[in-house]
Amino acid sequence: MTICLVSCLLLTSTSVFPQITPSSGAVYQEGFSYCEITPFIASRIEGKSYRENPDISLADLRYVRIKYIDFEGNEKDGELIVNRRIARDTVEIFYQLYRHKYPLQEVSLIDDYGASDDRSMEANNTAAFNYRKITGSTSLSRHAYGMAIDINPLINPYVKGKAVLPAGGNVYAQRSAEKCTGKYASFMIQRGDFIYKLFMEHGFTWGGDWRSVKDYQHFEKE
Ligand SMILES: [Zn+2]
Repeated sequence: MTICLVSCLLLTSTSVFPQITPSSGAVYQEGFSYCEITPFIASRIEGKSYRENPDISLADLRYVRIKYIDFEGNEKDGELIVNRRIARDTVEIFYQLYRHKYPLQEVSLIDDYGASDDRSMEANNTAAFNYRKITGSTSLSRHAYGMAIDINPLINPYVKGKAVLPAGGNVYAQRSAEKCTGKYASFMIQRGDFIYKLFMEHGFTWGGDWRSVKDYQHFEKE
């Protein structure tokens, strides 16, 4: 694969920025790229998923553009914000999902849902960066560092005992595709399936492998 050392700025400009490196921005494939957080993107996330903090700066984050196929088979444009350390992983992973027509309901910034994890999950929105605590904890989530991605969260809910988040994902809390009565049962993430292997190949771990809670939507990297 060739990587063009092109930032999102260059996509709309003929200027040359010789200082650009692969970590700051790149076009991976047509429709799959990442770049630094521009002032416009910053204005979309400040006061929502991003706020002044001692843990992560805007310079640590990358804005990622991808394409995906939805459950109706339509091709859509998606956007994510992730840590610069996994920007390349992210475009590679989502390119493979796209090529294999792995369906995603929506891939929008969580800021489109007011940075509300609950609302974004209920909409089955795939998302990554959000400066927030771990659900039910005072520790920062890996999402706060842009190091975690939640996939189709409605059909891959967070399950702790009888608690299921989002509530609308209750039918998908039990993970047998044969027993599940949900419309998208066959697209629940399972250990060893295509998307699981894809994230593992890129060094991620899966929340469905956790013991105390199960976070089936969640892939993260250290
Ligand atoms: Zn998550």
